Amino acid sequence: TQADVRLAEDLARRAATSLDNGRLYTEAQEAVRARDSFLSVASHELNTPLTSLTLNVQALRRQLESPRASPGDVASESVSNKVMAVQRQLSRLSSLVRELLDVSRITAGKLRLEREELDLAALTRELVPRYAEELSRAGCLLRLEAPGPATGSWDRLRVEQVLQNLLSNAIKYGRGHPIEVSVGADAERAWLSVRDEGVGIALEAQPRLFHRFERLASERHYGGLGLGLWIVRQIVDAMGGRILVRSAPGQGSTFTVELPRLPPE
Ligand code: ADP
Repeated sequence: TQADVRLAEDLARRAATSLDNGRLYTEAQEAVRARDSFLSVASHELNTPLTSLTLNVQALRRQLESPRASPGDVASESVSNKVMAVQRQLSRLSSLVRELLDVSRITAGKLRLEREELDLAALTRELVPRYAEELSRAGCLLRLEAPGPATGSWDRLRVEQVLQNLLSNAIKYGRGHPIEVSVGADAERAWLSVRDEGVGIALEAQPRLFHRFERLASERHYGGLGLGLWIVRQIVDAMGGRILVRSAPGQGSTFTVELPRLPPE
C-alpha cells in the first residue's frame, strides 16, 4: 500500500542518516586521533633540538668559565664545534616554528603572494651553495642542470621555500647518493625538478604525501612534522601550478614543480 511505501521510504531515509552519522562519527574520531598524534609528534620534534641545545650551551659555558685556552688548541676547536651544533639546532627549531606558523597562515586563508620578475635558474644557482654544509654532512653531491633562463612572475620567498623543502627532503631521504636539480621553461610554464636516488616512496603511499601531518610509517626515524610537502602543495596551488612525484622504493624520488610564467587570473 501507499502507507507501506511511505514507511519504507522513511526507514530508508533514517538508515541513510544513521549511516551518514556513523561516517561523520568515524571521521571526527579520526580527526581527534590525528590531532593527538600530531601534538605528540610536534612536542617530541621541538624537544629534541631544545635538549641538545641546552646541553651544548651548558658545556660551552663550562668551557668558557674554565682557564682561557689559546686559539687553535683542542679546547677552542671543541668550542667552535659546539657553536656550530648550536647553530644547526637553532635553525632546526626555527624551521619547525616557521612550518607551524605557515600552517596557521594557510588554514586561516592568509597566504599572500607577492610578485616580481624572477629567473628560476638564477634563483636556484644562488640558493644551492647555502646547502653546501648540509650536503657535505650527508656525503652527497649535487648537480644542477639549468641550461637557460626560466623567467616568470612569482613570489621570491615562497619559490625559495618550495625549493628549500624539496632539497632538504632529497638530502634527508637521499641516503648520501647524488642529487640532481634541473630547471627549465617553455612558453607558458617553468619547472623545477629535484631528483634523489634514496629511499623512495611506494606507489600506494604517494597520494598521501601531500596530506597534512603525513609521515610515512617507514620513515619515522628521520624526524619531521609531516607538514613540509603539504605547505609546498598549498603554495604551488596558490600560484596556479602543480607538483608531481615519480618514485619507487629503493630507487629514489623525483619531485617536479610546474609554475605558470604569468600569474593566474
Ligand atoms: P617531513 O617534515 O616529515 O619530511 P614532508 O611533508 O616534507 O614532511 O614529507 C612527508 C613524508 O613524505 C616524509 O615523512 C617522508 O615519508 C616522505 N618523503 C618526502 N620527501 C621524500 C623523498 N625525497 N624521498 C622519500 N620520501 C620522502
